[in-house]
Amino acid sequence: MYQEDEHNSYGIASRKFHCRDCNANFLSLGSKVVEHCCVCNSANIESVNDVFEKKPFIVPFKKSLEDAKNDYRSKVLFHPLVPFVFKSKATIESIHKVYLPVFVVDATVEGNIDFLAGDKTNIMKEKVQFVETKKYSVLQKVRLNFRNIILNLTSKIQDKLFHTVCDYQFDSILDFEPSLLEDSSVLVADKDIKEVAESGRNRIMKHSLNIAKSNIQHALKKLNANEASVNFSNSKEVLVPVYLLLIRYKDKEYVYLMNGESGVVSSELVFGMTEIILFSLAMFGLIFLIAFLIAYYL
Ligand SMILES: [Zn+2]
Repeated sequence: MYQEDEHNSYGIASRKFHCRDCNANFLSLGSKVVEHCCVCNSANIESVNDVFEKKPFIVPFKKSLEDAKNDYRSKVLFHPLVPFVFKSKATIESIHKVYLPVFVVDATVEGNIDFLAGDKTNIMKEKVQFVETKKYSVLQKVRLNFRNIILNLTSKIQDKLFHTVCDYQFDSILDFEPSLLEDSSVLVADKDIKEVAESGRNRIMKHSLNIAKSNIQHALKKLNANEASVNFSNSKEVLVPVYLLLIRYKDKEYVYLMNGESGVVSSELVFGMTEIILFSLAMFGLIFLIAFLIAYYL
C-alpha cells in the first residue's frame, strides 16, 4: 500500500505514484482514493516525492467510462472462445481512465530525393521478342508539410498499438485546467526525448519517401539518394485521453485501449485452449443431438 503525499506537481495539489510491479509512474490530481496502478491494476503501488511544474495542453474526454466498459463487454462477453479472466467483473471494473503524455508537433520534410526508375517494354525485332529496359534518374524536390504529428512519450503503451487509436482532433485542445483531470490518472513521461524525436523523424521520412515514390510514373523504382531532412516546429506537450485495460493471461499481457475522444479501439484478445475444446465439444454435442432427433423422428 502507499502513503498519501501531497505535492505541487502541475502547479496544483497532486499526488505521484510509482507501481512496483510494472514501474509506471502516474499522477492523480483529483481527490479520489488511488489504490491501483492505472496501467497494470496492481495494488503494489507507493507514493513518491517528485515535484515538477508543467502545464500541458489537454484533449478532453468525450467518451465515458461506461462507454468503454460497454464496448469492452460487447467484444468479450458473448465470445465463447475468449477465456474467462477477460470476462470477469473484476477485469471489466479495472478499466482505467488515463491521460497519456505526448508531444504534438508540425513537421516539414524538405530536400532532394533521387530515384532510379525504369520501364520494361516488349519489342519485336526480326520476329524475335525482346524485353527492353529503359532506365531513368528521377530527381524529386520535395517540400511536405505535416500537421499535428503525435509523439508518444510513455514506454507503457507500445507505439504500434498507440498509433492505431491516435485519431485525436486537436481543434478541441484545451489549456491546462486541473478540473479536467479530476477523476483520471496521468501517466508520467518516461521516454528519452531524443529517441522519441528520432523515431518520429524516421516515421515521417518513411511516409514521405512513400509519397515521393508513388509520384513516379514508371514501373520500376528504387531509392538512389536521399538528401531530404525532417524539421519539427510548434512542439507542444499535450495530455490525450484513453481508457486502458491490461490483462495478464498465461504469463502474457494483453491490452485493450480506447481513444477517450473518438472511441476508436485497439484490443488484443486471445482464444483460450480450454474454451476452444469446450466450445468444440458443445458444438459436437449439439450436432449429435440434432442428428439424433432427426433420425429418431423422421
Ligand atoms: Zn503497474
